[in-house]
Amino acid sequence: MRETSGTSGASIELEHLTKRYPGAPEPAVDSVSMGIKAGETVVFVGPSGCGKSTTLKMINRLTEPTGGRIRINGEDVTDIDPVKLRRKVGYAIQSAGLFPHMTVAQNIALVPRMIGWGKGRIGDRVEELLDLVGLDPGEFHDCYPRQLSGGQQQRVGVARALAADPPVLLMDEPFGAVDPITRDHLQDELIRLQRELHKTIVFVTHDFDEAIKLGDRIAVLRERSHIAQFDTPEAILTNPADDFVSGFVGAGAALKRLNLTRVRDVKIADCPTVTFEDPPRTILARLRGSGTNEILLLDGRGRPYRWFSRADMTRVKGAPARAGTPVSGSVAGDATLRDALEAVLTDPAGRVAVTGRHGEYTGVVDMETLMNSVRELLEADRLGAVEHPPALEEIRADRQEGADGGGRKA
Ligand code: ADP
Repeated sequence: MRETSGTSGASIELEHLTKRYPGAPEPAVDSVSMGIKAGETVVFVGPSGCGKSTTLKMINRLTEPTGGRIRINGEDVTDIDPVKLRRKVGYAIQSAGLFPHMTVAQNIALVPRMIGWGKGRIGDRVEELLDLVGLDPGEFHDCYPRQLSGGQQQRVGVARALAADPPVLLMDEPFGAVDPITRDHLQDELIRLQRELHKTIVFVTHDFDEAIKLGDRIAVLRERSHIAQFDTPEAILTNPADDFVSGFVGAGAALKRLNLTRVRDVKIADCPTVTFEDPPRTILARLRGSGTNEILLLDGRGRPYRWFSRADMTRVKGAPARAGTPVSGSVAGDATLRDALEAVLTDPAGRVAVTGRHGEYTGVVDMETLMNSVRELLEADRLGAVEHPPALEEIRADRQEGADGGGRKA
């Protein structure tokens, strides 16, 4: 993974933040108070029109609040010069919002130019950012937005939001306009980026699954941005505060929970192994002595190669490498339990090898280990669910201690 020596996140406090649009009978956002910790990803989720975007846009004062205060790392930014605020707060929106008459590089350079960076520094930064968001600088630097796919435009949008290395990144339905597969990739990329950058991210979506995937905490908002629940995805899935939140969580909370956990974080089974170079008698002895129905043959690099079962014992003579069943699929330790479940359900024998970074064998998952893991997770959620979000005072105390970020779940 690349090392980046950038600014990491800042805490955000909203105090009775309110927006009344002229002529509207009700405020669009009515006295929202919440504390967001440095380095965490908080997702606002709620029905269309409930005030998510308005709340978000007040944080960088694209929309001016009509009441309340905003503090970033303790500094009251409610009345500071908005240009100064742009250094602290990056902003990415749906459809990337790139300027069509500017090249990719010019789009990314907007904020650094606005705040007076020199040419050389801007040039270096643009290269660095393109690389960071997975676009080859040589190929994309001089392109115009119309020459890029939706997903590529969105990456440029994120690069532009990060250009001046702000501690806070606001994202307003950034992946709302791309197809589901690209969207999934962009979400994975954002998780990767955040693991490197530790920004404070506030992300707006109406898609609860997206909120679960990305959020360290989720604020479920109802009309006028009233907070229905503000908690970890685990707590919201297992202990929704009321019917409104349950309605948003939707069916299948236990299944959604599977998306929150990686294979490497649960107990997996170990299957006896041999290498395909081992002589047949070693293989047979191993299987007989193992007490299991099958063992796994590994290739020269320790990667799963063939499953070898008791039924294969008669066929082993002389050529163990050709006996048994080829390993058709495996899951990486980074895969979610949902991916693992999918793999186990589609495997003819209902078990799948787990592999490490270089494809090497690290264990096996089957239905039983998965079910045990999920039961344990749900039980732990029930016991440990935090009923109430931390109060603003706790967030302030956190900041005083110089908290540099809760770090996201891996
Ligand atoms: P969401 O992001 O949750 O869909 P918004 O924050 O966009 O909700 O809108 C909240 C409410 O404020 C809606 O009733 C919307 O019509 C109103 N609204 C949003 N922007 C403006 C505006 N510029 N002028 C007047 N009303 C607005």
